[in-house]
Parts: sequence; C-alpha cells; structure tokens
Amino acid sequence: MLLYNSLTRKKEEFQTIEPNKVKMYTCGPTVYHYAHIGNLRTYMMEDVLDRYLRYIGYDVLRVMNITDVGHLTSDGDTGDDKMLKGAKREHKTVMEIAKFYTDAFFEDCKKLNIRRPEVVQPATGCIKEFIETIQALLDKGYAYEAGGNIYFDTSKLEQYYVFLDFKEEDLEVGVREGVDADENKRNKADFVLWFTKSKFDDQELKWESPWGIGYPGWHIECSCISMKYCGETLDLHCGGIDNVFPHHTNEIAQSEAYLGHEWCKHWFHVLHLNTKSGKMSKSKGEFLTVSLLESKGYAPLAYRFFCLQSHYRKSLVFTYENLDNAAQAYQKLVAKVHTLLQEGGAVDNAKKDEFIAKFREAMDNDLNTAQAVTVLYDVLKADTTAATKLACIEEMDGVLSLGLVDAAKAMADEKTDAEEAPAEVLALVEERKAARQAKDFAKADEIRAQIQALGWEIRETRQGTLLEKK
Ligand code: AMP
Ligand code: ZN
Repeated sequence: MLLYNSLTRKKEEFQTIEPNKVKMYTCGPTVYHYAHIGNLRTYMMEDVLDRYLRYIGYDVLRVMNITDVGHLTSDGDTGDDKMLKGAKREHKTVMEIAKFYTDAFFEDCKKLNIRRPEVVQPATGCIKEFIETIQALLDKGYAYEAGGNIYFDTSKLEQYYVFLDFKEEDLEVGVREGVDADENKRNKADFVLWFTKSKFDDQELKWESPWGIGYPGWHIECSCISMKYCGETLDLHCGGIDNVFPHHTNEIAQSEAYLGHEWCKHWFHVLHLNTKSGKMSKSKGEFLTVSLLESKGYAPLAYRFFCLQSHYRKSLVFTYENLDNAAQAYQKLVAKVHTLLQEGGAVDNAKKDEFIAKFREAMDNDLNTAQAVTVLYDVLKADTTAATKLACIEEMDGVLSLGLVDAAKAMADEKTDAEEAPAEVLALVEERKAARQAKDFAKADEIRAQIQALGWEIRETRQGTLLEKK
C-alpha cells in the first residue's frame, strides 16, 4: 500500500517493523467541549485507514490518549488551560468535564461508525510515567529547570524541525497571540515538560513531583502513552495537520532524545475541514457538532459519506449545500442497495474479484476514498446480478463503514409503516422536507410537531428521516 508520509513528504510503500503487525497511535481529543465535525473528520479518516489495514491482513494495535490535562489554548504553552476553561464555563470540576466530554466523544464516534481503539488512555492516568520520562530527559541533559518549570532543550538536538521547512523566525513559538515570551526558555522553541510555576493559581489538578507540585505539559503525554502500550517503536502516528507543529515535532524531539533511536517511521496527517469563512471553531459562529447536524435532520453517516467523497490530504469546505448534496446521494445509494436486497441471484465471483481489485487499487493509492466511492457506483451500474453487487458492496463497506446494508434493511421496515400513513401525514412529511431544503428549520420543527399530533413520529435514522407510527 502506498501511503503519504508527512515526515519524508512522499508517498511511500507502507512498511511495518514486525511483519503483519501495525502499532498505530492516534492523538485523541482534548475533552473540554464537544468535538466539532472537523475534529471528527480526522478521526473518521484515521478510522478508514485502521479498517483498511485490518482488511488487507494486518493485526492492528491502536492506541489513543484522552487529553484531560496540560493542553493550553495555544499549542505553544501559552494562553489558558483548555480543561480549566471548560470547567469554569460549566461550573463543574475538571474531572466531571473530562468524563462528560469523553463519553460524548465516543457517542459521536459510534454514530459515525468510528471504531473504538483497543487502548484509550486518559493522560491523568499516567502521571508516574510522565515523571519518569522527564527525569530521564533531565539526566541525559535534554531538559532543564528554569523558574520552577522543566523545559525541553531543543538546541541539544541535531535537527528539531524534522517536518520540513519550518523556519524558527516564522513560528515565533511563545510569542504568538500577543502573549509575552516565556523568559525562562533558553531557546524560543523550547517547550514545557512539567509546570510547577503555573500562571493559573486555580489549577485544579496537581501532582507531587521531584520538582515540586505541578502538572505535565501537553506533548509529553503522547510520547509516554505510546511507549507504555507500543514499546520503543511505532509504525504509524496519526493526527490532524495542525498537530504537525509544535505537537508532533515536540513528540519526536522528546521521544527520540529519551530512546536514543528513531521512534516512528510513518506520520499520517488529515487536512482540515473548514467553513467558508475559514477555520472551524468551537467558540465563534455556529458550533458544528454531530448532534447539531442530527437536529437539522441529517443522518450522521451522510456526513461520513460527505467526508469520504474527498481525499484526506485535501482540505474540505463545509457548507450545508455540500452536505445536502452528499445526504441526497447517500439516500439514493441506500435506496439502490434496498432494491438489491429484494432481488437476488447467484454471486459471480470473477466479477466480484474484478471490482474488489479496483477498490483495493484505489485504497492502496494513498487511501483514495473518493476513488473507492466511484468504484462503489461502478458496481451499482454494472451488468451483473444483484447478489454480486450486494456482495461487493458488503465487502467494500466493511472498510468504508457507511452502514449501507443496515440502512437499506431499516428502510424495508420503514416502507411498511409509511405505506399505512394517511395522506395528510404524508403531505406534511413532504412539506417538512421542502422547509428543510429551504433551510427553514423553525418551520420544519413546527411541521414535525403537527405530524406528532396526528400520532406519527418523524425519526432520524442512519439513512435519513423516517416515518413511524407512535
Ligand atoms: P483537539 O481535541 O483540539 O486536540 O483536536 C482533536 C483532533 O482534531 C486533532 O487531531 C486535531 O489535529 C484535529 N483537528 C482540529 N481542527 C480540525 C479541523 N478543522 N479539521 C480536521 N481536523 C481537525
Ligand atoms: Zn498527541
């Protein structure tokens, strides 16, 4: 399989250290708020990669951290503490916030058919490991104490900016966002491994350490959690593109300084989902979550389909118009699969192998899901039996995880309900559809209430809006 490696900036033959075994690490969410659908694009594309590697025969061990401490609003150790900010916003403790948003994250993942990794490790569960690694970095001369904090000394490395052509002066770590530079740092790019002199007097979570009571920086958690479960090497490390710098650059710096050898060969980064006005945000504009999409009548898996239609190395613009197109196409796909379920015939294995080979060709070419979706359409158009088509779709959807067959089966149940509905209810359903298309969501909600008053329920399911008798 050819997979783009951000470290070498080339598409490379994906190779593992041990044959047929992949040790894969994913930077997990910072659980101070709901994940936005941009975050979830990253997790979804990583999920497709994870599923495809399994499909082609790898035994995958996937590890994900949960950031419940140490992540500041600027990735370069400045700004507010994200968890503290979340806790204050909701008048709760940091651990309450962490629990609530960790659960919410996995709920969203479930709706989007994102597999839960084998290991999910909150950072607060590994403080002992962080302290040991930081102490080893101090002993080896890669870290220093200044003003009560422990910093990683980036000048001790032959090459710190391993991902390509970042220029230090362009990055100005520590002096971004109008925040004063940290006077304790020996070099501009140095980063905090352990804080004792926190600028947050009300920092909730603190632990004893050889350097005083404090808490870990964000970057150290991923290095330590990865090593705890995967050992001294990794095959694959994933994240969103913004993680390249400083987070992944710092992970590599401290891991390789600690280990004394190369740590991870392959780095997989997903480009961002943006809005028309730019970066997706949790604080400005509409906060786009899976629940928000559902409340507007979109099936979560239609959003998965939207994402899979483009390549993970291209940034993607979210608009409701684009999502509408994807949602309609998704509904049509489900309807076609539904028709296939009614037909039958025998599976033409030679024909099936031909399509599966095309599917693999697409996925082997740097996880080209857009091309894989085209193959899915080619299957539907092909001159072969329904059973052959269904067999191809089931196999391909094992990887793409669009839930096509399940949705088509649910549609069969729904049909029987809708057939019994009185004309008045069906007319309201159509009216609501039109209101939604015109983005008049208030009217759509009003019509839903009218439908309910008539004893029927509009239900959002995997394949969209369905009608049920109450
Ligand atoms: P966070 O919870 O902020 O640590 O981010 C979780 C994941 O989402 C990280 O891998 C980020 O790189 C990724 N991410 C952040 N913003 C976006 C976006 N707009 N589109 C895609 N991925 C994103
Ligand atoms: Zn990380």
